[in-house]
Amino acid sequence: MRPKTCVVTGSSNGIGRGIAERFGEEGCNVVVNYRSSKEAAEEAVETVEASGGSAIAVQADVTDIEQVEQMREAAHEAFGQVDVLVNNAGINQDVLFKEMSHEEWDVVLDVHLDGAFHCTQVFYDDLVDAEQGRLINISSIVGKGGNFGQANYATAKAGIFGFTRTLALELAREGTTANCVAPGFISTRMVEELPEKVKERIRNDTPLGRLGTVKEVAEVVAFLASDRSSFITGEIIDINGGKDL
Ligand code: NAP
Repeated sequence: MRPKTCVVTGSSNGIGRGIAERFGEEGCNVVVNYRSSKEAAEEAVETVEASGGSAIAVQADVTDIEQVEQMREAAHEAFGQVDVLVNNAGINQDVLFKEMSHEEWDVVLDVHLDGAFHCTQVFYDDLVDAEQGRLINISSIVGKGGNFGQANYATAKAGIFGFTRTLALELAREGTTANCVAPGFISTRMVEELPEKVKERIRNDTPLGRLGTVKEVAEVVAFLASDRSSFITGEIIDINGGKDL
């Protein structure tokens, strides 16, 4: 059987990298997308290849549709049609709403929402043409519950819920599914940069008593990307150690 070809946006670091490497373990062809971390993206490519997959690193800023189109060309040239798109690229610029500039608002919405819009538009036909196309979006627990200092981020992540459910409806007749995962606090640089007392509070508020790991998110995404999830669409899967119980 032909290996699946998977594009993971923002897979030079953190959760995206964990997803790319997990796809490598499944023998997939992986497009490791990055914006600025070339070296880290090349390391991810090596890890994917060492575990039996194939990979290329492609620089593209998801906020720029022309760069995303070039990424599709690179993906097609290396592997042919794309089967799985994971919209993972993300940033945060945390500041209390009263102090938030319009630029801080825009930059976060641009990466998460315009980024998802551009990538899904550009790879839409691939996902439709794939035998079991999969669109997987990375949202967040913050999209459900909000979070101090994250009005921009929470708004973007809540937007991803509506985006996922609508795409699930529009893609369903094509046999393509669209789902999203909503991780709680996962140990990546986005969270490691928080003050220790904030991390301590997160651990105390989490029934499982710890931060999540990249592997724990990647495992769920690998399931959603596989043929085993064929009757699941439009879902939001929480991966948060019981934090919103
Ligand atoms: P991270 O370690 O900071 O990694 C972010 C990734 O996104 C990097 O590979 C970065 O690439 C890429 N990226 C950022 N802006 C980009 C752009 N404009 N175009 C292309 N790539 C871009 O963050 P993370 O914690 O793994 O977060 C990954 C996703 O999970 C985000 O959507 C985040 O909102 C979500 N999430 C994270 C947590 C958490 O607790 N960590 C929880 C819930 C949801 P470069 O390094 O090359 O710039």
